[in-house]
Amino acid sequence: MLEFSDRSKLIVQSEIRNMTLECTRTCGLNLAQGVCDMDAPRVVIDGAYEAMKAGVNAYTRYDGLPELRNAIARKFLEFNKVDISSEKNVVVSSGATGAFYSACMALLNPGDEVVLLEPFYQYHLNTLLAIGAVPVFCEMRPPSWSLDEEELKAAITPRTKAIVVNTPGNPSGKVFTGQEMNLLADLCLEHDLFLLSDEIYEYFVYDGRKHISPISSEKVRDRAIVISGYSKTFNITGWRIGYCVCDERWAQMIGHVSDLVYVCAPAPLQWAVAKGINELPQSYYEGISSEHQRKRSRIVAALKEAGLEPHVPQGAYYVLADVSSVPGSNSKEKAMEILHRTGVASVPGSAFYARGGGENLVRFCYAKKDEILDDACRRLRTLRN
Ligand code: PLP
Repeated sequence: MLEFSDRSKLIVQSEIRNMTLECTRTCGLNLAQGVCDMDAPRVVIDGAYEAMKAGVNAYTRYDGLPELRNAIARKFLEFNKVDISSEKNVVVSSGATGAFYSACMALLNPGDEVVLLEPFYQYHLNTLLAIGAVPVFCEMRPPSWSLDEEELKAAITPRTKAIVVNTPGNPSGKVFTGQEMNLLADLCLEHDLFLLSDEIYEYFVYDGRKHISPISSEKVRDRAIVISGYSKTFNITGWRIGYCVCDERWAQMIGHVSDLVYVCAPAPLQWAVAKGINELPQSYYEGISSEHQRKRSRIVAALKEAGLEPHVPQGAYYVLADVSSVPGSNSKEKAMEILHRTGVASVPGSAFYARGGGENLVRFCYAKKDEILDDACRRLRTLRN
């Protein structure tokens, strides 16, 4: 009888899709999906058209157009204060998702254990499962989503090959401090592990915090695998422009895997993103950060008034809210209850935990136009009644 592969059966279906379907059916406001509905910068949009007209329409080199790799290298020098080589250390891929998948394929064997911090981003879990790696979970505890050093050490075994960190984090909004990064770096050194660092929200940090990448630390530079991209920074999630930056020892093979699966990221869109990186001023990045901080304040206030105590995010654009007061025996029922009563869709907290956690949490994405966010806040406040 024809059957799916054993591997595919391990992949967990996304709750976001379920909530989105129900939200569409009930004509609700979708704060479940992690998509920012603001516009892409004009220079980036125009750049795509210019590139297409200029004939930048063929396959690119397996690791990306030189214009984009050069722009990314300059970004690392200015933003991360690290001097990397655009020829040796950068692999452009199909979004951060493609970069993460390619890195996992290139660096991990089936059976290798990988430490994943709960609450996690579901694609990280599913990617690990898809390639046959074994996720080992370690919980970050609210309110500051702190790491327990002993728990982290206990999660590491002789079979561990990597730790995954996501800063600023989805769904927690946690921005890892220098001290926390140092702890992860020391453990990676001591146990000879890769540090896979997803930094897709690097420009969304609040209250004067600083984004810290492990690549900035000399001691783990040769084992830090930075995953990022421009889906969120330029509001171009559908363009699929992401990258991996790491030591040259790993970069080429990661590029070969990316070539095998995606061939290359869309050529004119790579060119347009390079133009955006080269031409957008510092104020653009400050602007998106302060804009989202403002939106964060609005939803945090509304959730408090609604009686859904928020875990105030330090970065990214999601907020986890405590839904203990909402009727339902688990987070899926509670998210559905909120949707049916207010018309606002969220993601059940259980989607971010593997061992039965998150049942009193739901996640809202607040990267929405002001009028939509205000409407959602107004509707959420009615839960108080
Ligand atoms: N990494 C994290 C933590 C995310 O939250 C997302 C999108 O929600 C991605 C990666 C996806 O990035 P990309 O569109 O570049 O594949």
